[in-house]
Amino acid sequence: MVGADCIFCRMGKGEVPVEKVFDDGTVFGINDINPKAPTHILLIPYAHVTALADAGDTDKAAVGHCLGVAPTVAQGASIASPGYRLVVNQGLDSGQEVPHFHMHILGGRPLGSMG
Ligand code: 5GP
Ligand code: ZN
Repeated sequence: MVGADCIFCRMGKGEVPVEKVFDDGTVFGINDINPKAPTHILLIPYAHVTALADAGDTDKAAVGHCLGVAPTVAQGASIASPGYRLVVNQGLDSGQEVPHFHMHILGGRPLGSMG
């Protein structure tokens, strides 16, 4: 059953208490429990989107919305300048742990080159 056991869905429904650092009704943001940078926020659509490859039009709107609000969230976290990185993991080789679409916002230190 989609979302019933999904930790991010359960957060969205309020079944798992979490401090939201951003919320506009479509997407919420939380601090990552295992931060890889001084600022590490996860932007999570309330809608359960398992994988980008499976996303329908409504899902794509929610996914795109994450990208759209990222600059506002980064500004709110005071990392818009000097900069930040957005990461989306998809599938096994990416190391994706939670099969509910989310976007990582990382910043607060020089992040180095990719790879
Ligand atoms: P992924 O590897 O799927 O792209 O990222 C999942 C992220 O969710 C990881 O960085 C992990 O630390 C974070 N995470 C997993 N469970 C929880 C949780 O219960 N609370 C919070 N705040 N972050 C979580
Ligand atoms: Zn979910």
